[in-house]
Amino acid sequence: MSSIPFPILFILAVFFTFWLILRKFHRLEQKKRALPDLNAYLYANNQTEARCKACDSAELKEEGLTHGKDERRIIACASCNTLLYRFDPPEQED
Ligand SMILES: [Zn+2]
Repeated sequence: MSSIPFPILFILAVFFTFWLILRKFHRLEQKKRALPDLNAYLYANNQTEARCKACDSAELKEEGLTHGKDERRIIACASCNTLLYRFDPPEQED
C-alpha cells in the first residue's frame, strides 16, 4: 500500500504540466508586448531598413500578438525566429 493513491499523483502531474505550459505562454506574450515599435527598433539598431538584429537577415515575417488575426502585429525574423518589433495598427478615425 502506498501512502499517496495513484490517481492523485496523476492529477498533480497533469496540473503541473498545464502550469508549466501556461507560464511559458505568459512569458512569451509579455516579451512580445514589451517589443519596441519600428522607429524605436531602427534607432536602437542604427538601421534605416529593418533587418534581423541577430542574424542580419532582411527576410521578416509577421504574426498576430495573441492570435493570427490580431491587428497588433509582431514582426520576427523569418530565418532565426528572433522577435524584432511590434506594429500597432493606426487608430480608426471616422
Ligand atoms: Zn534572424
